[in-house]
Amino acid sequence: MKINEIDVTGYDTLLLDRDGTINVHIIGDYVRKWEDFEFIPIAYETMPYFASKFKHIFIVTNQRGIGKGKYSEEDLADIHRHMVEEIEKIGGRIDGIYYCTSLTEDDIRRKPGRGMFDDILRDYPDVDPTKTLMVGDGDIDRDFAKNCGIDFQRIDSFKREGKCKYWVHTCAPLNH
Ligand SMILES: [Mg+2]
Repeated sequence: MKINEIDVTGYDTLLLDRDGTINVHIIGDYVRKWEDFEFIPIAYETMPYFASKFKHIFIVTNQRGIGKGKYSEEDLADIHRHMVEEIEKIGGRIDGIYYCTSLTEDDIRRKPGRGMFDDILRDYPDVDPTKTLMVGDGDIDRDFAKNCGIDFQRIDSFKREGKCKYWVHTCAPLNH
């Protein structure tokens, strides 16, 4: 399923994975700076539609590369500033970006731990888990949604490996 085909009926809060969902997932490496960040065109183009449908739109992303010293929190802030600017240019919106730099799953904030969702519930008390949808491309996103008690929709992912770019298709229904 492509990101623009999701049935959003009944949800008012959207949680989006980042790498492989919004931007091209670079296999074996990280998005270290804005120059490395490449929107998946269909995800970018769907942002205004999401902005019209959802009260809240958050990104929840593991960024272990920071914990490994591959890039800094300042680099990440710069990437996200550019990303949000580009999304807003076409009428999209991101209301909050939650990230975890931890290396291991001992940290409940690292997906699949539910810590980043708890941060959202603390920051936005009107977020209702029964009206929240997690959208992502990985098993880790599915497990995160399960731990949060929220619905999950897996979507096709777009990846880059060296000079090769390709889609990874999924036909997974809701919550798989
Ligand atoms: Mg991903």
